[in-house]
Amino acid sequence: MADIANIVADIAAEMAAAPHRGKVADYIPALARVDIGRFGIAVILADGTVHVGGDADIPFSIQSVSKVFMLTIALGRVGDALWRRVGREPSGSAFNSIVQLESEHGIPRNPFINAGAIVVSDIVLQGSDVRSAAGDLLRFLRFLADDDSIVIDREVAESEAQTGFRNYALANYIKAFGNLRNPVEDTLQLYFNQCGIAMSCRQLAAAGRYLMLDGRHPATGQQVVTARRARRINAVMLTCGHYDGSGEFAYRVGIPGKSGVGGGILAVVPGEASIAVWSPGLNERGNSQLGSLALERLSEATGWSIFNPP
Ligand code: GLU
Repeated sequence: MADIANIVADIAAEMAAAPHRGKVADYIPALARVDIGRFGIAVILADGTVHVGGDADIPFSIQSVSKVFMLTIALGRVGDALWRRVGREPSGSAFNSIVQLESEHGIPRNPFINAGAIVVSDIVLQGSDVRSAAGDLLRFLRFLADDDSIVIDREVAESEAQTGFRNYALANYIKAFGNLRNPVEDTLQLYFNQCGIAMSCRQLAAAGRYLMLDGRHPATGQQVVTARRARRINAVMLTCGHYDGSGEFAYRVGIPGKSGVGGGILAVVPGEASIAVWSPGLNERGNSQLGSLALERLSEATGWSIFNPP
């Protein structure tokens, strides 16, 4: 395998000059004004070595990547009982689709589409309040990333609430089936707060390390989740992490990953690497155009597709 530092540098150089960069999400002003020329990458290896390229230290809106961490917290609270309220099958529909909820009686297909993530937020909110639950998520991320500077971007969280009509529709519909326990407004406030978390590639890759290390925190050795649970979260990331582009991502990259409309992707190679890429231009499925391409290049150059023989 070529040297990872060179591979990362080559990818950053290629992406900086890439002509086709997709389209920046424009449903809220804070995302619409992000410079489409940005590209960042951070790769953290199992031995702790960090390789970064491009805009790896610029915070961006992690949006749906937060769903991985909320799922982890929710599983910690209620264990596998969570799967009675959320499925784990790819949806094949857009991230904010409402149609499957009717035939599936308010049980969202998976925790990574909006409907499923709203139920996961509802689970985390149970017995708490919005402020404390959002604080729990922030503390969890700071602990995982060893970085106390991670914050929620208030402007993004507030704009999400002002424009989140589809999410209100989803939450009300799920509530009608009895699959939300808290007031719709509270559950959504938590969901909008998690979408508003800002992190850099370096911070995001650091936060994902437990998923490459059989559930262990690299600094303390403490089990954040069991090895079995880490494997399963990775499995859901592989099958459901890219909305209705999950099959294409598995085909091209072959690594568990979760994307967000801010243009970030967290990707995990079990036992090898925790990776974050960011470029705000999205492809037609709402996944980062250059982030996906960068991970395809990285996977090819390193042989990190999980479908390669060991
Ligand atoms: N925050 C947006 C929403 O809930 C997008 C989340 C995402 O898919 O990254 O509609």
